[in-house]
Amino acid sequence: MSVQTRVLILGGGYAGVMAANRLAAAARPGLAVRLVNPRGQFVERIRLHEYAAGTRAGVAVPFDRLLHPAVRQVPGTAVAIDAGRRTVGLADGETLPYDYLLYAVGSTGPAAPAGALAVADVADAAAARTSLRSLPAGAAVAIVGGGLTALETAAETARAHPRLRVHLWCSALPGPSLPEPSRAGLLRSLRRAGVQVHPEVPVSAAADPRGQLGADLVLWCTGFSVPDLAARSALPVDGAGRLRVDASLRAAGQDRVFGAGDAAVIEDPGYAYLRMSCAAAMPMGAEAAGNILRALEGLPLRRHDSGFQAQCISLGRADGLVQFVGTDDTPRSLHLHGRTAAVLKEIICRMTLRWIRSEAKRSGAYSWPKGPRALRRTPVESRP
Ligand SMILES: Cc1cc2nc3c(=O)[nH]c(=O)nc-3n(C[C@H](O)[C@H](O)[C@H](O)COP(=O)(O)OP(=O)(O)OC[C@H]3O[C@@H](n4cnc5c(N)ncnc54)[C@H](O)[C@@H]3O)c2cc1C
Repeated sequence: MSVQTRVLILGGGYAGVMAANRLAAAARPGLAVRLVNPRGQFVERIRLHEYAAGTRAGVAVPFDRLLHPAVRQVPGTAVAIDAGRRTVGLADGETLPYDYLLYAVGSTGPAAPAGALAVADVADAAAARTSLRSLPAGAAVAIVGGGLTALETAAETARAHPRLRVHLWCSALPGPSLPEPSRAGLLRSLRRAGVQVHPEVPVSAAADPRGQLGADLVLWCTGFSVPDLAARSALPVDGAGRLRVDASLRAAGQDRVFGAGDAAVIEDPGYAYLRMSCAAAMPMGAEAAGNILRALEGLPLRRHDSGFQAQCISLGRADGLVQFVGTDDTPRSLHLHGRTAAVLKEIICRMTLRWIRSEAKRSGAYSWPKGPRALRRTPVESRP
């Protein structure tokens, strides 16, 4: 290893912070870890629906309470990556050199049509929170989308604002990945919360959806989109703009660039089960950091190996659904509803911060569920 090896991490979310801690806590002589993030605080994105609904006071955690002290924080937004020169340009004009780069800029909400708000980043969630508070009794709130974020947002909003009329508009069935018995329980929970569900009604993004839906406020929860930084920097991306990485999380054709979290996609189709989630981002961040350390030592890189155990959906503070899944996210027959599920979900939300902190104390402390066995049979062919 050279006297000073610079690892630059772009994005201080679940993947980036986990990676920064794994690298810094390894305490390799001469290894300097820098983390670039627009704000000096970590955002608990998995709680943004609570923040929007007003059931949680805040979602920001100061980095000083999560990061290993040796990680140097660089407040800023990366606007260009020059992989040839190994530099990153920031919005304020500064240029940062690197020896290894971890691309972990995450995701944000979909482009919401005029008149609608998303809840996928903190600014949008704050705007939704303010709007919800200011609505008069009897006003109608429409949540558009049928995935986990939409379901959580609808139930949380209805429970927190019983004076409002909350409608959920889904282009397909709510929770399309859920087996029928779980969906039946989910619908019961939504009904109990006071959410009126409108399944299989596509909502057009072409016009202001407030008019279409007769709503005073529309929360647009139809999925996530990723920053276009990799695409703008001529790095390999998929159709959605995610950095394409191999099974060792190294960018296609790039020796010194790794990717993790929502902003990266593993090209091997065997990994298609890995959905954008905190549950996938943290293992990817840890694995990418481990592989950067291996590359520095000249060791073969490890094939990423992570899987799922459950889809945990909070439906207000006292209700929830835990759908147990196989490692490849395929639902099993086992599921939990009600208060027990809500408690389990809350424990998992708290554990995410604990896992990140544990990694700051000891590199390698965090472990995660392994992925499908079939993936492990394929040999690792990644060179250091
Ligand atoms: C309401 C809601 C509920 C959710 N619930 C769950 C759940 O229960 N379970 C689950 O597994 N997942 C859940 N998710 C999804 C989860 O939050 C994301 O998948 C996860 O945050 C991805 O982690 P990440 O590290 O890739 O990115 P992020 O957490 O998005 O972090 C990316 C960071 O990069 C920064 N950044 C962006 N652009 C730049 C740039 N150009 N330069 C520097 N920094 C940049 C961002 O500001 C951010 O700090 C939920 C999401 C939402 C919105």
